[in-house]
Amino acid sequence: MEHLIEIKGVSHAYTTKSGPLPVLDGLEIAVPEGEFCAVVGPSGCGKSTLTRLIAGLMRPDRGEVWLHGARVTSPRKTVGMAFQNPVMLEWRTILENVILPLEIVAPKMPRAERVARAEHLLEMVGLKGFEGKRPSELSGGMRQRASLCRAIVHKPDVLIMDEPFGALDAFTREDLWQTMRDLRAAEPFTCVLITHDLREAVFLGDQVVVLSGRPARTQRVIDVDLPADRTLDILFEPRAQD
Ligand code: ADP
Ligand code: MG
Repeated sequence: MEHLIEIKGVSHAYTTKSGPLPVLDGLEIAVPEGEFCAVVGPSGCGKSTLTRLIAGLMRPDRGEVWLHGARVTSPRKTVGMAFQNPVMLEWRTILENVILPLEIVAPKMPRAERVARAEHLLEMVGLKGFEGKRPSELSGGMRQRASLCRAIVHKPDVLIMDEPFGALDAFTREDLWQTMRDLRAAEPFTCVLITHDLREAVFLGDQVVVLSGRPARTQRVIDVDLPADRTLDILFEPRAQD
């Protein structure tokens, strides 16, 4: 099987005033095309560092990052990113925020086509009717939905999400998990999700990579053996019969 993302023996240390700070140590991750890889690990273990390395925003000290059979050495247009606190431009409407990556990546695409693409995605995540609102007029969960649309509007090969649902309440978060699965069912893309939440990792992931230690290593890779049409019920133990 072709691996869309390959992290091979990646080590990285930051240079700090008190000397080098080793963060990642010989990381190994392989994500086949179309798969969803959830990465869990304690705070400060280097998860955000890993996202920057995959996106080509940084280069590792040692080891290699491969994307689609090419070594990553610079930022990629074919990578979409979503974060815990999405930065939305307040002077633009939701629709215009979602369209933004297309203006950069596909400047020649006709405006009507861009609008249609953004409207289609917003409808899929339940934001039909909110296209003309400003970001501050939406709830946190709605803003995160819009930011997911923005992250995939240009059809990136890979969507990298760094704790995207971390700031949301439990109910909103679970709604977003379902939206995420619906989006991927409609439009398959390869995903790397950074999360603290094991339930989230298991509900969304095809594989769960567990990082631990200082510097962090790949401690375990768990294949999630659950049906593709899993529902949230799967995360709850059946009640014991008495
Ligand atoms: P996580 O996302 O798992 O919480 P990070 O990748 O953000 O972890 O950070 C890993 C470690 O590297 C932390 O100890 C953090 O303080 C440190 N770190 C992150 N970015 C930098 C940087 N630009 N310069 C120096 N140290 C950094
Ligand atoms: Mg982080």
